[in-house]
Amino acid sequence: MKKKDRKSTTTDAGIPVSSDEFSLTVGPDGPILLQDVYLIEQMANFNRERIPERQPHAKGSGAFGYFEVTKDVSAYTKAAVFQPGTKTDVLARFSTVAGERGSPDTWRDVRGFALKFYTSEGNYDMVGNNTPVFFLRDPMKFQHFIRSQKRRAENGLRDNDMQWDFWTLSPESAHQVTILFGDRGIPKTYRHMNGYSSHTYMWVNAKGERFWVKYHFKTNQGIEFLTQEEADRIAGKDAEFHRRDLFEAIKRGDFPSWTLRVQIMPFKEAENYRFNPFDLTKVWPHRDYPLHEVGRLTLNRNPTDFHTEIEQAAFGPHNLVRGIGPSPDKMLLARLFSYADAHRARLGVNYHLIPVNRPRSPVHSYSKDGAMRVENVSDPVYAPNSKGGPMADGERYPQVEVWQASGEFVRAAYTLRKDDDDWGQAGTLVREVMDEAARGRLVANVVGALKGGVSKPVLERAIEYWRNIDKDVGDRIAKGVTGG
Ligand code: NDP
Repeated sequence: MKKKDRKSTTTDAGIPVSSDEFSLTVGPDGPILLQDVYLIEQMANFNRERIPERQPHAKGSGAFGYFEVTKDVSAYTKAAVFQPGTKTDVLARFSTVAGERGSPDTWRDVRGFALKFYTSEGNYDMVGNNTPVFFLRDPMKFQHFIRSQKRRAENGLRDNDMQWDFWTLSPESAHQVTILFGDRGIPKTYRHMNGYSSHTYMWVNAKGERFWVKYHFKTNQGIEFLTQEEADRIAGKDAEFHRRDLFEAIKRGDFPSWTLRVQIMPFKEAENYRFNPFDLTKVWPHRDYPLHEVGRLTLNRNPTDFHTEIEQAAFGPHNLVRGIGPSPDKMLLARLFSYADAHRARLGVNYHLIPVNRPRSPVHSYSKDGAMRVENVSDPVYAPNSKGGPMADGERYPQVEVWQASGEFVRAAYTLRKDDDDWGQAGTLVREVMDEAARGRLVANVVGALKGGVSKPVLERAIEYWRNIDKDVGDRIAKGVTGG
């Protein structure tokens, strides 16, 4: 392009500048002048380019696409996004949990699977993971859990001893730890993994009937994984392996897709189901609750500015649209608060005004002011008012996503059901789902981690922990670690 056809650089105020190369000095060899406001603006802006990274899920990648409903689930939910024939724009972000923003994509970790549906009735966010369960069932322990996976105070290092100390003192982690150290702990790419709501949610249909649901986004690329050796090698060569793969695939028109299927439990059945259906460390076995197809998620557009569209994207499980509600899952109830709060801390109170986070449907909210409020607010600024401001319409929009509860205020574990325990479902996975080759890789992966600086008492507990999951696997791990 000829020079005269290119735009002239300006300052942030739109004032043309005379050089991108030379600062303003007293003679060619003299000192720099404070009146070089363009240089100062560039330096000051540069110093502020990085915004705080997310606490967990700092390293992520994302893309845009759409969700189209392929089956009729209107008998279970009235949510507009899931009505037959509906097509909705979506933003997806996939991430690792424990690593920082520059950490390798191929470290063993759970992957985040976050979706924002720009629905006709407001933004609906499904903030899940690539596993159907989690390490914990009470949010009191979440902060401690994440700290145990991040870095030590003394040396700033991640630490296997700290990780296994926490896990072995928290037996409810067994199911998720088994998945993590199995093949699904390192997906081959973001395209080759499933996404799960993990939590149970409530669906409500047009007649007001309520159901409990779990979401399963099944990859249409097939599940594929990396072995520990492959992942270690890739981490040393290309820390952005998964980010690159997602971007390149979409760029070449190889659009990844996932089929959404849901498990549906009639509202009343939750009372007497053999597992606590709201315990985040448990799945609902497929034979009890089979999968029903809902639709297909396709990603077909890359971001053009990673920072504004992915780094500043703010997903939150509190964004629930009509016909979809929370459940008594204590982890979910805590996340309804903590995600929005994290965004306010990281991006500011007006994070929802950032274009990628804006709903496509009209907003008539009374929130006002605050840092970076970039949209005019108009009177009246309070409700109720007699000045024609928005007014909540409980007849049109009744609160139907509800359930009953009563009891003393207590700090207590969930009431145990007939089949509730910490080891059972992890044991089923090891014995009935994994084949011998997968079990062998599980044992090798755990042995590798336990040989990496785990102290004696923690190691003893870890072997006991694995024997509780499966005696044979525990014995093999003990043998692998001691070399006996
Ligand atoms: P099923 O035989 O019906 O389901 C087993 C499921 O295990 C498969 O459908 C697959 O999930 C998943 N799976 C396969 N390999 C692995 C692996 N290496 N790591 C983790 N998951 C894997 O039996 P159940 O429904 O009775 O479940 C048995 C066990 O399977 C559970 O205890 C749980 O550990 C695991 N599981 C169950 C899920 C569920 O929602 N019921 C979901 C995922 C795992 P998918 O089809 O989603 O790829």
